[in-house]
Amino acid sequence: MTSLIELSLKEVADKLKNREVTATEVTKACLERIKDRNEQINAYVHLTEDKALDMASQCDKRIKEGNARLIGGVPLGIKDIFCTKGDLTTVCSHILDGFRPPYESTVTENLWKSGAVMLGKTNMDEFAMGSSNETSYYGPARNPWNLDCVPGGSSGGSAAAVADYQCFGATGTDTGGSIRQPAAFNGIVGMKPTYGRCSRYGVIAFASSLDQAGPMARTVEDTALMLRCMSGYDPMDSTSADLAIEAYDEGLADLDLKGLKIGLPKEYFMEGLDPQIADLVKQAVKRFEEQGAEVKEVSLPHTDAAVATYYVVAPAEAAANLSRYDGMRYGLRVEGENLMDTYERTRSEGFGWEVKRRIMIGNYVLSSGYYDAYYTKAQKVRSLISQDFKNAFEDVDVIFAPTTPTTAFKLGENSDDPVQMYMNDVFTLPASLAGLPAISVPAGLVEGMPAGLQIIGKAFEDKKVLQVAYAHEQMCGFELKKPE
Ligand code: GLN
Repeated sequence: MTSLIELSLKEVADKLKNREVTATEVTKACLERIKDRNEQINAYVHLTEDKALDMASQCDKRIKEGNARLIGGVPLGIKDIFCTKGDLTTVCSHILDGFRPPYESTVTENLWKSGAVMLGKTNMDEFAMGSSNETSYYGPARNPWNLDCVPGGSSGGSAAAVADYQCFGATGTDTGGSIRQPAAFNGIVGMKPTYGRCSRYGVIAFASSLDQAGPMARTVEDTALMLRCMSGYDPMDSTSADLAIEAYDEGLADLDLKGLKIGLPKEYFMEGLDPQIADLVKQAVKRFEEQGAEVKEVSLPHTDAAVATYYVVAPAEAAANLSRYDGMRYGLRVEGENLMDTYERTRSEGFGWEVKRRIMIGNYVLSSGYYDAYYTKAQKVRSLISQDFKNAFEDVDVIFAPTTPTTAFKLGENSDDPVQMYMNDVFTLPASLAGLPAISVPAGLVEGMPAGLQIIGKAFEDKKVLQVAYAHEQMCGFELKKPE
């Protein structure tokens, strides 16, 4: 018999609605699983057990009264970057020690309005800067497929928690790949919606022109259902899109694959891409072809500039965003001899090495004399990358690509070489820079470790991306590892 924790989000939501299980039972099952596994996986950094049980009992009451909500009673993990009122929210940084926000992020507020239950805050790279979860102040989360391997990052704790059955879904944020890459490494689904689809209000800022919240879950349907609950226009975020929320989870099977035009960007099948991952992508494409889809090679000629562009734009924005951490208003304060000394000591002690590196790069590229050479130039190249996609999407409906060049690497393997680490993002950065919706969905295994297929769509065609991902999921037959 399938245990409670192994159900999909949709299945458990249905069982809750039909009163076959209670939210309290489901929440307790997740909490028990977390307690069993957290020492090994380290997916959660702040557990909110009392809040979870309290929210669950409120859900049970509502369900009894006939007021069931869309995902009423479903327990979720929340990345430690989302402000949740009164709970520790630290972006896994020492500098936000003890910070309990006095307000709630719109995305989490939307989830609670849909009836979700919060289990706790999940592990992540410090300030979402990283691809391995190794920059977390609380130590790395681990990959449930192989504990010697990283779960990816920055939303590594969320991905590991979902893959390890410690929740039915989790929130992530993706600035340059932080939802998609860990989803690929853990054999789950993760979606970065179109920039502006989910509100950034109450999401601790890294690079504001790129940051986008999104869902992570074990199936495409679960991902779609979560996105429906998270997304929507928010007057508190001026970059949020004023568009109606779609029922992303409905009609997933309605897309006619016959005549669907799939683009394969030739620049993505490059040196450094594991040939076995390339093969998995090609197998996926072939299945679509067999269903009548048309496959075309497309060109995204500025792909090779994406890593350099991102690692100018994102640090520039980060340097500005992180200037607010000065020990005065929240988090850590290390007293110095005078105000300046207090600032310096607080920031020296509070930020980890990767965050400091980004702040230094960011301030450098924004400094007078270098601004035009780096920052302005990077903005121009960013426009070219967006234009590449616009051109490609004149001929195709969606683009298929690998999510990552390799499967999950070993802990410590890339941590001494930042450039090697940044190369991990080579396939996810372009869609981020262009603000496009992109999903990673399991494509199969390479030597026992999961690899992801990335599907990129046109702006605000999030639903189509989900439909295509759903079709792939049905044809691929990937199976998640059973709980140990
Ligand atoms: N790995 C990328 C970085 O370190 C992306 C991170 C993210 O998407 N938050 O910046």
